[in-house]
This record gives sequence, structure tokens and C-alpha cells, in this order.
Amino acid sequence: MGVFAGRPEDGGLSALIANGSNDISIMRILVVEDEKKVASFIRKALQAEGFAVDLCATGETALVAVRTTAFDAMVLDIMLPGRDGLSVLRELRETGDRTPVLLLSARGAVNERVDGLNQGADDYLPKPFVIAELVARVRALGRRAGETKSAIMCVGDLELDTISRGARRGDRRIELTAREFLLLEFLMRSPGRVCGRMSIIEKVWDYDFDPGTNLVDVYIKRLREKIDDGFEVKLLHAVRGVGYVLKEGR
Ligand code: CA
Repeated sequence: MGVFAGRPEDGGLSALIANGSNDISIMRILVVEDEKKVASFIRKALQAEGFAVDLCATGETALVAVRTTAFDAMVLDIMLPGRDGLSVLRELRETGDRTPVLLLSARGAVNERVDGLNQGADDYLPKPFVIAELVARVRALGRRAGETKSAIMCVGDLELDTISRGARRGDRRIELTAREFLLLEFLMRSPGRVCGRMSIIEKVWDYDFDPGTNLVDVYIKRLREKIDDGFEVKLLHAVRGVGYVLKEGR
């Protein structure tokens, strides 16, 4: 068996209660990683922050574990012996399991990352990672568990990280100003749907505007240069007389 249950003597829970935080419920996290050192490193860090942690060393045991225990989030390594993380994720989602999943993968494996996000991962962290970032991302996933928002939004190979506020397309990092970030986030929330200029102004600028302004068009042009220039497949399209749409292809 590859399941090692989190031990009750690990002190995270009492630490939380001693802090007097009464709005915190213990979050139970499943960590799926076959490398024992890495797994135990992750478990210790999460337990130190007050999470309850179960470990699985294989995808098969992870699938058994999620059937019997409700987890608030899962840290899922892609590289596993036998059944890999992506296949575990696919099965979870196909069977209707919506447990938030943070995928771990080798740095620079863009295809894996895109595949994972398209298959329903909620967030992604390349190895090697800084443990504090993993903990922060797991906490964010748990917090969002009741919501449909995920930490990373994805349209084609364009990704927007709503925690770090970073964006990337394929291997290229995209620097966004705060307003450009809001604009891209708004468009990515409804991929394939045409967003009118007025609704963009309302949501992204949050105040009444002279409808004659070309502000939106100016920002869209800038955004398009950042996300589409140099890429064969364009994502940001104008719909004449109506507005803009973010989608793959025409
Ligand atoms: Ca592994």
C-alpha cells in the first residue's frame, strides 16, 4: 500500500487553536508523490501550517483514497510509477470528482502544464518549487474550494495566474500592467463570448465613461500585442461593431 495516513501527533492543529483563530477549519490535503523525500518534505511543511495531510505514493492508491475520504485539495505529481498524475486527474474529473488539484511537474514541460490545466487541474507548480509557494497555493485552493474560480485561467496556451498576477503564453512570460491584467482576466472568464465595450468598461474600469472614448480599443490593442504578436494562432479577436472575444481560432 502506498497510503500513509497523517499522524495525529503532528502539532499543526493545536497550533491553530492556540492562535485563537476560530474561522479556520482544518483542511485535509492529499499529497500524491512517489519520491519519499519530497513527499515527506511537503507533508511536514503543510502540517506545520495546520493542514491534515495524507500521502499516497501511486495514482492507483490516490484514486482509492479520494473515494473514501473528502479532501479539501490534492497535490498531484505528474511523474508517478504506473498510472501518471494526468491520468489520475482525468479519471477524477470524468467521475465527477471536483477536488481542487495542484499539479506538480518538471520545469518547462509546457505541454504537460497545458494538458493538465485543460484536464481540470486548478493550479500548477513546476519542480523544483519553493515550499512556501506550494503552501500558499494549497491554501488558496482550499479557500476557493467552494467557488468555481481556479488560481490559473487558461485559454489555449495562454495562462493567467490570478494569485501571482502573472501571465504566460507557451514559454513566453507576459508582463501586464494592473489594468491590462483586469482586462485579460475579464475576457478569460468567459472565453468564446463576445464582450461589448460598455461591459468591459463597467467591469474593468468600474466607472461611467464617455461611450465615445476609444480607451478600450487602445488597451485591447496593447493587450493583443502582448499575447498574440509572434504567435500563429491568434486568441484576441475583434467582432466588428460589437466588441471583443478571446478564443482559439476564428
Ligand atoms: Ca514523482
